[in-house]
Order: sequence, then C-alpha cells, then structure tokens
Amino acid sequence: MPVRFKRVYVEITNRCNLHCSFCPVSARPFRTMTAEEFHKAAREIRPYCDYLYLHVKGEPLIHPQLEEILSICGELGFQVNLTTNGVLLGRRRQLLLSAPAVRQTNLSLHSYTENTHGPLENWLQELIAYAWDSAAKGRYTVFRVWNLDEQRETNSQGERMLEQLEQAFSLSRGQIRQLAASCRSVTLSKGIFLSFEEEFVWPSLQNPFLGREGTCYGARNMVAVLADGTVVPCCLDGEGECPLGNLFEQPFEEIIQGERLARMAEGFTNRQVKEALCQRCGYRLRFGGGNGNPQEGKKQLKNAVLGTSFARKADEP
Ligand code: SF4
Repeated sequence: MPVRFKRVYVEITNRCNLHCSFCPVSARPFRTMTAEEFHKAAREIRPYCDYLYLHVKGEPLIHPQLEEILSICGELGFQVNLTTNGVLLGRRRQLLLSAPAVRQTNLSLHSYTENTHGPLENWLQELIAYAWDSAAKGRYTVFRVWNLDEQRETNSQGERMLEQLEQAFSLSRGQIRQLAASCRSVTLSKGIFLSFEEEFVWPSLQNPFLGREGTCYGARNMVAVLADGTVVPCCLDGEGECPLGNLFEQPFEEIIQGERLARMAEGFTNRQVKEALCQRCGYRLRFGGGNGNPQEGKKQLKNAVLGTSFARKADEP
C-alpha cells in the first residue's frame, strides 16, 4: 500500500504580483513551472494523493498556462485547492468557475491594500460574487483573515471587510467580530467560510531554536514541490531549506520513500522534532510546544519573535 498524503502542494510559480509584509519574497531564483513539468509532477504524485494545492510561495493566478494546468488536474482526477491574493480574480473567475477540477478557493483578505486591489468595497464585492457562484457549483470558498493580533483582533481595514461580509451574508452587525475572538472558522453560507488565524512567522534556519519536542502534520499528511522540482516536507518551507530530493531529477516515489522523510515523520509521531528547520519553526507550536501544551507553544513563539531571553537561552545545541 503506497503512502497516502492528505494533500500535496505544487508551487506552479514562485513569482507573486504583491510584496506583503507577512510573506517574505523568496530568496530562490524566480521560476515558473512549465505545463509539461507540471504534467510530469502531477502524474507522479497522483498515486499518493487526491488533493493538489497549487501554491507554496507565489501567486497561482499569474501563471500563463493556468488553463492547461487545471485541465491536466482534471484529466488526472485531482481535486484542486487554490490560495490567491485575489488581485486577478476578476480576470480569472471564468476560468476557475469552468474548470471541473477546482474544489476550493482560499481568498487572502489580509493581502489587501488600496493601491494593489483598488477600492475595498468593489474588490470584496467581486470576491463575494465569486463565492456565491462557486457555492452554486457545490464548491468551497474560504475568506481568510490571517492577520489577527494577540487579542485576536484585526486592523481597521479588516474591520471594514468583516462589516461588509456581515451585510452580504445577512449577519447582525458585530457578529463575525465577536466570533473571531474565539473561533478559527465561521460558516457564512453553504460552501462559504471565513477563517481566522493570528499572523505567523515563516520557518527559517535563521530563526531561534525552539525545541526538539512537538509534532506537525508536515512530512506525514503533506509534502510540497517547489517550482524548481525540490520536494520539501510542508508548504511553509518556501526556501527549500529541508530538501528531500528533486522531482525533476528523480522519481517522486523514490523521494518520499527516502530516509529523511521517514525519519521526520516517525519523529513527529513520537513528538520528536528531528530537522533543524522544524526545531526553528514557530508554526508547529500551534500544535503544542515542548510540553505538548498549545498555550506554552504560543508563549515560546511570542518569545522567539520578540527575541527575548527565552529564545537566546534555548538556542543551544
Ligand atoms: S515543523 Fe514547520 S517546517 Fe517542519 S514540517 Fe512542520 S510546518 Fe514544516
């Protein structure tokens, strides 16, 4: 029985049309996978997974061969999830709505600026209309507000977005904002959701050491393929700092059966964090810190981000 992943991320391009503060530009050379390369990758991944996510870093809607890529996904029977900053949604909506493979679209509301997206109300209205049309086709749309602060509050722009969503989905004023304080996700209508997260720090070998105990879904439920074919354990290793192999140079099967991935996965199952990158990854602290307590994990992350004494003390081999 082959390993089965819940999802595999394929970064069809690492280029983006925005430069958001929460998403550092990749230090890797810019690269866009050709449709032929994508076809090879997708064919090899297919026996191991049903759900393909078309991004790691980069904005998938700027890919010049997106139509071909979605059609390859359809031919191979993949269900596709897309995460987009929504700048090009107006131009790409017909393609997305007509491609049978598309299952879910995640819309990153936290990427909004007036300069890049235009007037807020118009842009959000376009996204809401897309969500309704997708829902009518039995698909899912998730509005993401992933810039909550520690008090689980968003900025004033975020507040305006939530107000507009409340109106569009006939919710009472303040209802969504109240839920954001305690919930990670809210159902706005059938097939339409709103997801809340606090801003996170991308993992990096340059980050402070956070500990060797803990767990993560990376390497077990998912892997990711970067635009140059490098396979990494999760969608957060956007710099390819934990490379497992290269899908353009060796079979996917050989990579995922390799020792490095097996060691990582076994470690996470036993709450042992084996890789240097993961030992410096604040994201996994959401699943609990060294003592398995999520609150403790959050505290560690905060300390690490603020560079307090904890982070410096813990940065010991
Ligand atoms: S711990 Fe972080 S870097 Fe490691 S697999 Fe999980 S999300 Fe990725």
